[in-house]
Amino acid sequence: MAEAEHLPYEIRGNRVARISVEEVEQRAKRFCKLFGVTKKTRHNFAAFIEFLSTRNICVDPIDDSEWLWVTDAICSPETFTILVPLSLYLKACSGNEMAISTLCHEIGHLVLAHKAVLHNAKSAKPSKEEDAEWQADMFADYVAARMGISLSRQLRLDFDGLK
Ligand SMILES: [Zn+2]
Repeated sequence: MAEAEHLPYEIRGNRVARISVEEVEQRAKRFCKLFGVTKKTRHNFAAFIEFLSTRNICVDPIDDSEWLWVTDAICSPETFTILVPLSLYLKACSGNEMAISTLCHEIGHLVLAHKAVLHNAKSAKPSKEEDAEWQADMFADYVAARMGISLSRQLRLDFDGLK
C-alpha cells in the first residue's frame, strides 16, 4: 500500500484543470441542491432526468442495436448531451444502483465542465486531481450517496467491464 503512493498516477481520462476532492464535493453539493437530489430521487429517476432537460442537460437514450459497445455512455460537453444505451437508461429508471452511478458520472463530466487542457512535455506528471475520470467518479459518488446509494469503486469497475 505505502509503495503505491510513490508511483506516478496513471491517468485514465483527459487531463483537465485540477480540482480538489473538497471542490468536487462542493460542486456536487450545489448540484444536488439545485436539482433537489434526495433518497427519493433514486425511485423517481426518470423525473430527475426530465428535470435535467429543463436545465439543458439532455440525456438521450440510443437503441441498443445502434449502440457501439466500446463505452457505457458518451457525453458531449459542447451540446450538454449524454448518450446512453436504452437498456442502461431503463435500468437507471428502475433504480439500478450501478446504472444510476454511471449516469451520475457522465453528469459529473458536464457539471465539472470537462475540457482537455494543453500541457507541454515539461509539465509535471498529472495527478489524480487532474484526471477527468477521477473527478467524475468523485462527483458521482457524492450524488449517488445523496440518493442513498454507496457503491464500492471495484463494483463499478466490474460493471464497466461487463459491456
Ligand atoms: Zn468518464
